[in-house]
Amino acid sequence: MGILSTIRRFAEERLLGARDTLIAPLRQAGLEPGLKLPPPRELMVRLTARRELARDTLWLSFEPVEAPLFSWLAGQHVSIFFDPPGGEAAADSVPGALMASRRETRIYSIWNSPEDAAGTPASALEIVVKLMVVGRASDTFRELPTGATLSMVGPQGTFVLRSRLPEQLVFVATGTGIAPVRPMLVELGLRGASSRATLIWGVRSEADLFDLPDIPEDVRVIRTLSRPDDGWGGRRGRVTTHLDGLGLHREGAQVYACGNGQMILDVFAALAPAGLRRETGHVVYEKFFDAGFGGITGAALLPRGPLPPPPK
Ligand SMILES: Cc1cc2nc3c(=O)[nH]c(=O)nc-3n(C[C@H](O)[C@H](O)[C@H](O)COP(=O)(O)OP(=O)(O)OC[C@H]3O[C@@H](n4cnc5c(N)ncnc54)[C@H](O)[C@@H]3O)c2cc1C
Repeated sequence: MGILSTIRRFAEERLLGARDTLIAPLRQAGLEPGLKLPPPRELMVRLTARRELARDTLWLSFEPVEAPLFSWLAGQHVSIFFDPPGGEAAADSVPGALMASRRETRIYSIWNSPEDAAGTPASALEIVVKLMVVGRASDTFRELPTGATLSMVGPQGTFVLRSRLPEQLVFVATGTGIAPVRPMLVELGLRGASSRATLIWGVRSEADLFDLPDIPEDVRVIRTLSRPDDGWGGRRGRVTTHLDGLGLHREGAQVYACGNGQMILDVFAALAPAGLRRETGHVVYEKFFDAGFGGITGAALLPRGPLPPPPK
């Protein structure tokens, strides 16, 4: 018997009172019994299609150059490698070890489903990227032509649907935090559980919204704008405002949250009075960047001026 199953059995048999506290971190780490994560590997991919989805937001589709695409679970992500500024010319002038250390990675959630409804594995991997005004990845993606190649490692991450699906499932996403949530909702449909799901998706304004194809029709979708224009007739305010009316309780709910760190902290605080905590596995989350420090997006700079030069 492996050490993890020993720990789990000990927790279940001897410490029933503390069960939630001991098992939940294992769940958060993706190690819940029966949850098997596909092994990651490095893959060279080619950009085959790109499209602007919304303001400063790109959809990019990649296909493997040689080896077949890896399989993944809905909600997982990839790490994409970026060469140092100056690209190959810079690489030639820098000794190997130093060069390797200057190669940077950025993480992107996988936007498409790992397989279609008939179980056929996806042949392309899609991501959705919010472009920062300045940033290694944003600068690259803004200009990246179709046909260009990149290296990535994947799949990674434990932000995936848990095997036990309670009566109420709430997905809270801000901005491109919707990327891993979309395939999770599609999977819920395939598992016959989409009618239990509510999605609360928050963006700044209407120009930041985009279509969420293939989400099952019985998912309740709440789109909320933090800075709506006067003409917006839908929901307003931060995502946490809309958690209040859902009547969530500890026995029958689970919340999946993805986006900026401050939002995730706010979700923790909003759910704590109902006894829904990450430590008990009631809240599963993926943080895109740290609380209190967001990159500068074009929307934050409106009205927009010329782009500043890239950092040296
Ligand atoms: C697990 C994980 C999954 C991620 N998935 C996605 C994804 O699917 N789509 C996506 O667009 N980004 C995603 N990110 C963020 C992504 O990895 C990069 O940080 C982002 O694209 C900025 O990279 P950059 O090199 O252009 O700018 P950098 O110079 O690296 O970033 C500048 C700053 O921008 C902030 N920032 C990062 N992402 C955002 C954002 N989405 N909105 C506002 N501010 C941001 C951070 O504070 C960062 O320090 C994810 C991050 C993590 C950790």
